Amino acid sequence: MGNLYVPCRAVLEQLGVDYVIPPVNSQRTLSLGSRYSPEGLCIPFKMTLGNMIEAAELGANTLLVPGGYGICRLGYYTRVQEQILHNLGYDIEIIQLGVSERKFLGMMDIIKRVSNDSPWRRILSAFRFGLSKLNAVDQIERIVQKVRPVELIPGTANQLYTRAVQAIDNADDYDTLKRVKADYLGQLKHVAINEQARPLIVGVTGEFYVVLEPFSSFDIERELGKLGVEVRRATFISGWTKFSLFLNPFGINEKSRIHKAAYPYLKRDIGGDGWESVGEKVLHAKEYDGLIHLAPFTCMPEIIAENIMPSTKEQMPVLTILCDEQIAKAGVLTRLEAFVDLLERKRRKQNDQLRVTV
Ligand code: SF4
Repeated sequence: MGNLYVPCRAVLEQLGVDYVIPPVNSQRTLSLGSRYSPEGLCIPFKMTLGNMIEAAELGANTLLVPGGYGICRLGYYTRVQEQILHNLGYDIEIIQLGVSERKFLGMMDIIKRVSNDSPWRRILSAFRFGLSKLNAVDQIERIVQKVRPVELIPGTANQLYTRAVQAIDNADDYDTLKRVKADYLGQLKHVAINEQARPLIVGVTGEFYVVLEPFSSFDIERELGKLGVEVRRATFISGWTKFSLFLNPFGINEKSRIHKAAYPYLKRDIGGDGWESVGEKVLHAKEYDGLIHLAPFTCMPEIIAENIMPSTKEQMPVLTILCDEQIAKAGVLTRLEAFVDLLERKRRKQNDQLRVTV
């Protein structure tokens, strides 16, 4: 899922675990997943099943799968996927990282188990290093989101981003990691940009997996960047780790703020990220020009969110994109272009009205 492999690799590498990382998601991953999944299941199920088959082909006999026991189907996925893999003839065990219950302690227990009972000091040090890599990758991505729409030479920020992720992945110690991060942040700061540009600001929200996994969301953030749009995304794995993995003794976090915003329209968790999707629309209605809502086809939490969004009193144009193996990227791009076109006209109209008032 996105760049999650970077911190995972760092932890496993530091602990000397024999690991394989499945290839980057591709059409083959999706085809494999769709072929062996029940048809009505959501795209995260299909993509992760495809990942699992690809990992098994590379020789993996144990799979670590993040997941929880929340309200949506995700909590039951690994059992079904394990059954499918066994039916396909793979002798494989799935360990679900059920972080929603024991959070950090649960995660530590699992790392101890897969690292053949490594000492706690070593486990904590490896975990800390993985977190540092995760934070570095996310920090760079946030800057890339700002540079993309205003760069003078299209593609510069994307190239730097790809190289930065690789360099962070290859960093073996804190000194190298620090140097690499500073180097790429510096390079991004010096990308030639159009100083006059005032890009449209579009939020990207929706279900966690599709928001963070570029292949399943048709690489929407890069495509918006090409259209001169600055993307704002609240969901980053580093943020999720901070709020979901560690106990939060003070009870204050970004999620609470989003839930509070959604409360007048939705008073409880409905599974997945539906509650957050509604909250983000309400919270950022004044700040963003528009919102892209990514929803896997058949995902009940996002279907509920999609139906609530038009009736909030906080107004902002929302484009819901259903992600599924049946949807072609060309169709999504056409809708994106039309959406951005409408937002530009809206902004022009608002600017004209302001001029008339002055
Ligand atoms: S939130 Fe929706 S898409 Fe995500 S796992 Fe649950 S049902 Fe599937």
